[in-house]
Amino acid sequence: PAPVVAVVGRPNVGKSTLVNRIIGRRQAVVEDVPGVTRDRVAYDAQWSGRRFTVVDTGGWEPDAKDRAARIAAQAENAVATADVVLFVVDSTVGATDVDESAVKMLRRGGKPVLLVANKVDSDRQESDATALWSLGLGEPYPVSALHGRGSGDLLDAVLEAL
Ligand code: GDP
Ligand code: MG
Repeated sequence: PAPVVAVVGRPNVGKSTLVNRIIGRRQAVVEDVPGVTRDRVAYDAQWSGRRFTVVDTGGWEPDAKDRAARIAAQAENAVATADVVLFVVDSTVGATDVDESAVKMLRRGGKPVLLVANKVDSDRQESDATALWSLGLGEPYPVSALHGRGSGDLLDAVLEAL
């Protein structure tokens, strides 16, 4: 079976947009409303001639009360089933408490985690990505899932980690 790359993170950080960017078509559901992706959905992807499965995650209800617990559970599940985890943060928002609790869970899993600083749409937003070193996951990969900026470098790093 192809190795599995799981995409996790808070609602609205751009997980589904990133998945669409990786698979090269619009299939994951992107919405302005947080929590629209209700189930984990797996897609075939390839980069530099290597195939892998990319899993979009979600499952939050828009009115979820216990969001921190939900993201922790999602992160745990992703760690259990994935070979590499892409942890997506909205760099225009920065690291939130929910992001920090997810990081604790991800680190316990022992799987490689790449930190995606999404919504870096321009050069001058690069510093927003740099601020995410504070999460302790190592180098943040600045990406614009929407426009494609940085996605090649991210995918190169994914292949290295597989
Ligand atoms: P998800 O809930 O994490 O799956 O997030 P979505 O992929 O549904 O995206 C949430 C919103 O963020 C949508 O309005 C996207 O168009 C927007 N978005 C996603 N990636 C980017 C990006 O790189 N730059 C900008 N400016 N907006 C983005
Ligand atoms: Mg989604």
